[in-house]
Amino acid sequence: MEKYTGSCLCGAVHYELNGAIGEIVQCHCSKCRKANGTAYATNAPIAKADFKLTAGEDVLKRYASSAGTQRCFCGNCGSPIISIKADTPDFYRLRIGTLDTKIAQSPVCHIFTASKAEWEQIADDLPQYAERP
Ligand SMILES: [Zn+2]
Ligand SMILES: [Zn+2]
Repeated sequence: MEKYTGSCLCGAVHYELNGAIGEIVQCHCSKCRKANGTAYATNAPIAKADFKLTAGEDVLKRYASSAGTQRCFCGNCGSPIISIKADTPDFYRLRIGTLDTKIAQSPVCHIFTASKAEWEQIADDLPQYAERP
């Protein structure tokens, strides 16, 4: 069985993932850009049942960036960890950059390219979707 671990920048939040990482996407939506301070966020779905916080429950903060979406991040250092969508309660979207374990997968596509930053050039051949596939 697949097993991964990850943590935030300051090390207060640690998690384990005991299961598969779904398809990794590069999300260029304006909310991910703001949340990360970057051109895009690298996210993948994981089963809620596979995810376990092993440290930092007390510092993890939640922000509702829209009615149905909560973004969970470290309240000490600001690292985004997961997002939770009300319409897919059995899944979280993991911020892949927080993994400490190496993975064999790589991103499969770009989403929300209609709202990508005007200064960003997408420099790979992965499929691009204006919003979702
Ligand atoms: Zn932290
Ligand atoms: Zn996004």
